[in-house]
Amino acid sequence: MSLYRGRFAPSPTGPLHSGSLFAALVSFLEARSNQGKWLLRIENVDAQREQANAHRSIIETLQAHSLIWDEEISFQSERSHLYEHALKQLADQQYTFQCPCSRKQLKERNGVHLETCNKQTINQKELVNFATKFKLLKTEFSWEDGILGKKHITCQNDFVLKRKEGFYAYQLAVVCDDIAQNITHIVRGSDLLDSTPMQLALYNALKVPPPKFSHFPVLVNSQNQKLSKQTFAQAVNNHTPLKNLLELFTLLKLPLPQKPSTTEEALKMAIKLWDKHYIPATNTLKHMPSV
Ligand SMILES: [Zn+2]
Repeated sequence: MSLYRGRFAPSPTGPLHSGSLFAALVSFLEARSNQGKWLLRIENVDAQREQANAHRSIIETLQAHSLIWDEEISFQSERSHLYEHALKQLADQQYTFQCPCSRKQLKERNGVHLETCNKQTINQKELVNFATKFKLLKTEFSWEDGILGKKHITCQNDFVLKRKEGFYAYQLAVVCDDIAQNITHIVRGSDLLDSTPMQLALYNALKVPPPKFSHFPVLVNSQNQKLSKQTFAQAVNNHTPLKNLLELFTLLKLPLPQKPSTTEEALKMAIKLWDKHYIPATNTLKHMPSV
């Protein structure tokens, strides 16, 4: 029995586009070809960025493409107790400090905090206008990436765990959720490479062994811009799911033995063939969808 547990964790900031469908597909194929579980988590920890009903549209698109997850869908907005518990654990270990400095102010002061930023002790009271930040005790981070091989990244800035506005930060929430859901393999886009050192630091502080990280290329348009809402990437057309999947298989140079007639059949063939060596070890991959 395999212990592989992977996940797809989109933010509900809009409908899925080809780039996010690609992310779902790659993490799905990795999990299924390892006889693993594939979980779906809606990362709506940031209520300010959440778009109403986007999570429903994401779910519909996954279902239309037969990318069906295991277990119940989890929503970060319902998991604050987990994040609060981890914050307390980190505070008890003196890994946190309260800080009013904005990113801009820190940049202007070359990363130097105000004298009043309490780097030694923790004020347990809710402090208005103070963010809770993580005290980085080392700056060099290495890991053996499942796709990119040996990676080494320098990370110098203390980072936010809970924002001034009271929202839990992405880094804290994602690590708490991955730990709580026993995720063993994180397969995600290379746009999140810079997050990996911060997450490794959190795993270390929380005394949990980190999962295996793998970073695949993000899809870019003809101008080398990452496909996203900001670069006007089109929403995935749920009426042509088989065509959409076959386009992504072509991008991965996956040689299907014959033309499948349904999405289920297409995925079955892909899982059988799948090997992560089909994923190029690059940071970007050009995607020019047919019209
Ligand atoms: Zn500060």
